[in-house]
Amino acid sequence: MPKRILVTGGAGFLGSHLCERLLNDGHDVLCVDNYFTGTKRNLVPLLDHPHFEVMRHDVTFSLYVEVDEIYNLACPASPIHYQHDPVQTTKTSVHGAINMLGLAKRTRAKIFQSSTSEVYGDPDIHPQPESYRGNVNPIGPRACYDEGKRCAETLFFDYHRQHKLRIRVARIFNTYGPRMHPNDGRVVSNFIVQALKNQPITIYGDGKQTRSFCYVDDLIEGFVRLMDAPDSVTGPINLGNPGEFTIRELAEKVIKLTNSKSKLIKKPLPVDDPLQRQPDIRLAKKVLKWQPKVKLDEGLGKTIAYFDHLLSAGVPY
Ligand code: NAD
Ligand code: UDP
Ligand code: UDP
Repeated sequence: MPKRILVTGGAGFLGSHLCERLLNDGHDVLCVDNYFTGTKRNLVPLLDHPHFEVMRHDVTFSLYVEVDEIYNLACPASPIHYQHDPVQTTKTSVHGAINMLGLAKRTRAKIFQSSTSEVYGDPDIHPQPESYRGNVNPIGPRACYDEGKRCAETLFFDYHRQHKLRIRVARIFNTYGPRMHPNDGRVVSNFIVQALKNQPITIYGDGKQTRSFCYVDDLIEGFVRLMDAPDSVTGPINLGNPGEFTIRELAEKVIKLTNSKSKLIKKPLPVDDPLQRQPDIRLAKKVLKWQPKVKLDEGLGKTIAYFDHLLSAGVPY
């Protein structure tokens, strides 16, 4: 049955892939975005679709539309962007969640929250299961994002208990792929753009910190499975690829895959930068029958091809 689905943050990296997937599945999609980090360019392939609609709107303000499902993705995700206006970042997570939950309450829509592995902070348990309560500095420069997302989770579970809302909370680990913004500042896009331009690759700290990288198509499959799961599956549920790499290993892979002449240079490690991160995805495997399929080399290949095309076409960004 086709559904009317709202995607907030739909012009962003993950949101645009999700809109595309939902349209391909035959649904009516309303994309809402204030274009803070998203871009209309991500939506160009979808604009002529008869079941697609776009609205410029900031989720910190109320929104009255009629929908069956809501995917709440609106929030800058890269440290340089979420630290640019930290007060607005917290407002987006918290007021945005309140407004979207209010909308879900009025329409009785099912609602999905894109939470994050950042709720675990700099973890002292490895890999991180959903039961781990985290190690977040509440007053540091990353707190606007981490604590904003933690408070949004609290709101989701209180609306679930108090107003019987049907909720789905995904804790997303580092995800990469085509349509990441070239200036987004995240490690995969930075390294690929630097390598393609034969510019120095910027390693923050000693490069021994780890991350586990999930290809976007795998993640979107996890989103849809979670939304379609029985209502007893509220989450929080980790979605990510357990393949863990040091940042230096990532840099070396990117240099190899791009045949780049780039050299590695060191820059200071940002404050509160987590030293290690790997998802424990046993829960997602069990209840969603989901696990990522795309290996890092394969996913990087597709992402490099995207950035290569973008840079060689001279597309302004
Ligand atoms: P992104 O920056 O590409 O997308 C975020 C989108 O939200 C952008 O289109 C932006 O313009 C929009 N937005 C920001 N503030 C808004 C507001 N107040 N009102 C309306 N729209 C607003 O980032 P992304 O990687 O696509 O992330 C999407 C979601 O997934 C975010 O909630 C992020 O926290 C979460 N997430 C992403 C990752 C990842 O690795 N990509 C990891 C964990 C969590
Ligand atoms: N809201 C919205 N769209 C709706 C319904 C509510 O944006 O269709 C917003 C509205 O701004 C409200 C918030 O959601 O402040 C929370 O709604 P809720 O009904 O939970 O709280 P209340 O309106 O009682 O404060
Ligand atoms: N990083 C890096 N060089 C860069 C960008 C990031 O070494 O040009 C490091 C960063 O310090 C962190 C890791 O790569 O340890 C992942 O950073 P990203 O901003 O992509 O994601 P997050 O820290 O939110 O997981």
